[in-house]
Amino acid sequence: MAAGEEEGAAARTESESEAAVEELRSFKDLGVTDVLCEACDQLGWKVPTKIQVEAIPVALQGRDVIGLAETGSGKTGAFALPILQALLETPQRLFALVLTPTRELAFQISEQFEALGSSIGVQTTVIVGGIDTMSQSLALAKKPHVIIATPGRLVDHLENTKGFNLRALKFLVMDEADRILNMDFETEVDKILKVIPRDRKTFLFSATMTKKVQKLQRAALKNPVKCAVSSKYQTVEKLQQYYIFIPSKFKDSYLVYILNELAGNSFMIFCSTCNNTQRTALLLRNLGFTAIPLHGQMSQNKRLGSLNKFKAKARSILLATDVASRGLDIPHVDVVINFDIPTHSKDYIHRVGRTARAGRSGKSITFVTQYDVELFQRIEHLIGKKLPAFPMQEEEVMMLTERVAEAQRIARMELREQGEKKRSRNDNDDDTEEAIGVRNKVAGGKKKKRKAF
Ligand code: AMP
Repeated sequence: MAAGEEEGAAARTESESEAAVEELRSFKDLGVTDVLCEACDQLGWKVPTKIQVEAIPVALQGRDVIGLAETGSGKTGAFALPILQALLETPQRLFALVLTPTRELAFQISEQFEALGSSIGVQTTVIVGGIDTMSQSLALAKKPHVIIATPGRLVDHLENTKGFNLRALKFLVMDEADRILNMDFETEVDKILKVIPRDRKTFLFSATMTKKVQKLQRAALKNPVKCAVSSKYQTVEKLQQYYIFIPSKFKDSYLVYILNELAGNSFMIFCSTCNNTQRTALLLRNLGFTAIPLHGQMSQNKRLGSLNKFKAKARSILLATDVASRGLDIPHVDVVINFDIPTHSKDYIHRVGRTARAGRSGKSITFVTQYDVELFQRIEHLIGKKLPAFPMQEEEVMMLTERVAEAQRIARMELREQGEKKRSRNDNDDDTEEAIGVRNKVAGGKKKKRKAF
């Protein structure tokens, strides 16, 4: 990653970083003020993580930062602590803006800001799509200290909410910066950059960076320091990564086989589309697994509901699109399954980064069908290693096909029913639980009817 160097960013070598970690053992050593050190302590953060050691002192000196760190590395603390400290020094409303690509990440970041900043009375507001704009306008009218937003909805408020502007902003953070800087958000980000002061601090954080970062550096960063705790694309050491090479038509049976083999673990299963996520969730539930979907065609409440159920371990399987691949902090994920191979290799890094977090071990299994060989080779090239095949008993898989076929048939029927219901209600919510109720009736109520959300 040469983005930083080309633009004159002062980059530290990895050995310098290691030395820094060795030398500095507490948040206080990094220059963090007492009240915030206490807040870290209360969260159980005894020592700073590598990225925090790297980024916090630099940020406290008032420099712009490009933070390149693995998922789960403590990135949020690395930018939140310097912002909170600056806020303590010069209290001001509408002080910082954090842009993030997904709604769930926005809530997660706001939770960390609140946990770290509650003792100093920090007020945060989350501004994301899928939630009533009126209540958001009211929250903005109260002028919070920190806004955590997805770009689209923020622009909406900048353009339409009377009296709201970010002309006094002191800090801009782009979390998952490579995503924020890609084409999807280009127009929105340009609009935001135009209406915030040039005289501000900017922090970019991501596990993966594209060349677009160079573009942003020209546009917005001033003499940034690059803090990289991993200089190439890495997946954590305690992650065991496998693949299985299988015919596309038996994917469902292989999935069920693996879930049975690894029973007792908690799984995140990634699918490429909302529809396949929903279908697979229904299929698994028809087979008695506690699976729950998370995708962009669900209402925001349902999305948060799914995530919370999974986080609380009330469900052992979360099926998701890439909406959940980045940054989400769910410590107990044991196994990540790439049921549909990611089209962009970098998404692989983000997806498998949902497990083996914070020093725990974890597994990932990527399904490779006859159509996915090239994509899989690209992934192996990106991570710089050849993956082993996950051991399987093919005969046992084949014994499952009949039951799986029946569950597929019911899932298809349920999906159709949901589609029809949605059309008639003109409503965007997902109805998995309700559909299961219908299915239970159809199947003669073999399983207990589950409670609705
Ligand atoms: P993040 O990379 O910001 O998503 O953080 C991942 C997880 O690490 C979160 O649950 C944080 O609460 C936690 N965390 C952040 N900093 C520390 C630290 N210094 N010590 C222990 N846990 C931390």
